Amino acid sequence: MDKIFKQGLALRTMPVSQCIEQQNILLQKHLKQAMQGTHYRQTYTDLGITPQEISLDNFSDLPLTSRADLNDRSHLFQAVPDDKIRDLSLTSGTTGNPVRIPYTRNDLHRLAYNEAMAFHGAGVKKGDTYLVGVTIDRCFIAGLAYYSGLVELGATAVRSGPGQPARQWEFIEQLRPKGIIGVPSFLLQIGKWALEHGKKPSESSIQSLITIGEPIRRPNFDLTPLGYDLQEIWQTPIHASYGATELETGISECVMQRGGHIHPELMLAEIIDEQGNLVAHGKSGELVVTPLGVEGFPLVRFRTGDITRIDPTPCDCGWTTPRIGPIEGRLAQRLKVKGTTIYPDTIFQVLQEIKELGPAYLEVTASYDLSDEIKVVVAEESAISVKEITNLLQARLRVRPEVEKQPGKAIMTKMSSGGHKLKRFFDNRK
Ligand SMILES: [Zn+2]
Repeated sequence: MDKIFKQGLALRTMPVSQCIEQQNILLQKHLKQAMQGTHYRQTYTDLGITPQEISLDNFSDLPLTSRADLNDRSHLFQAVPDDKIRDLSLTSGTTGNPVRIPYTRNDLHRLAYNEAMAFHGAGVKKGDTYLVGVTIDRCFIAGLAYYSGLVELGATAVRSGPGQPARQWEFIEQLRPKGIIGVPSFLLQIGKWALEHGKKPSESSIQSLITIGEPIRRPNFDLTPLGYDLQEIWQTPIHASYGATELETGISECVMQRGGHIHPELMLAEIIDEQGNLVAHGKSGELVVTPLGVEGFPLVRFRTGDITRIDPTPCDCGWTTPRIGPIEGRLAQRLKVKGTTIYPDTIFQVLQEIKELGPAYLEVTASYDLSDEIKVVVAEESAISVKEITNLLQARLRVRPEVEKQPGKAIMTKMSSGGHKLKRFFDNRK
């Protein structure tokens, strides 16, 4: 293991207070780099802010950066000349247009180190083989990040990509990988395909799953129905990972599976309320991240739009760095029903508890009393009655959404209308 990796491990086991001095140096360096781009240079100059005056103590006074700030103006954030750029990634564009994210050579190294450290925390070892069941092309960064992280750690990466469960199973039988990295519903699909073809996922070489995207854990760390099904079928530990393309930074749950450790030398994380004020540790709010040490596209206090909470207590894995809990929902999808806050993901998690429900989607409209009205549309072919679904949702969520049945075929048509990815949340509030 090289020297830098050893130093990184030392940072993660020392008392947090000892880490702060190093983080202050990295923060000031990061702000200087951010000011190489037009946006932060103008913003900070107008406000009379100089990097030397900023430390972790007053850092939260700096203005926030939102996704809307990047739309159509991402070139103002670029902090290096074009000839320093080695990779161009695009955000997935689920909110607004895709944003162009330039990576320098150092940024790609930084990303590899980031993922290597996250994988190390999740129990991946030198010499292990993992399937990377995530796309590595089409300007997505996640697949490339996982791939380079495995290589950096000294593990072997198999670029199996997404889709084709039969082919994935061939890879598992031929190459005997120790784990798979992928989207939970896809990992479940591979397991189900295997069972249907007389194979036993639980007796395969797979001993660990690393997931991205869909939530597998609730805020209290219990598995969601999807996470539970995944664990049942594979009989392996599951580690949720999280990242955002704009941040060039990702985390993964450690072996304790109680949240993902913040990388002290690569990121600062804060949780804010709706007014942008910091919330107390353990309370949920929007995650704000400052990725330290990025050259090409250095962001400061970036609002991720993801709702989660931070646990600052030392972890049983031996690392002292705070942990970011499961993602509880998207800020843009937050629903308010008669004073109760609820996220579509929470509703889907309840629906996942119903076996053989078939396709289902949510539709939300705004009512005059500023309360959101939620309609759950399920397939009329499902055996469970509208009343039973309504009662289950009310018991779990403490709100009573309207439930409606429609032909499964019509539901699938509506859900596929938005492109290659199935859409299951229709927001008609605006
Ligand atoms: Zn841990």
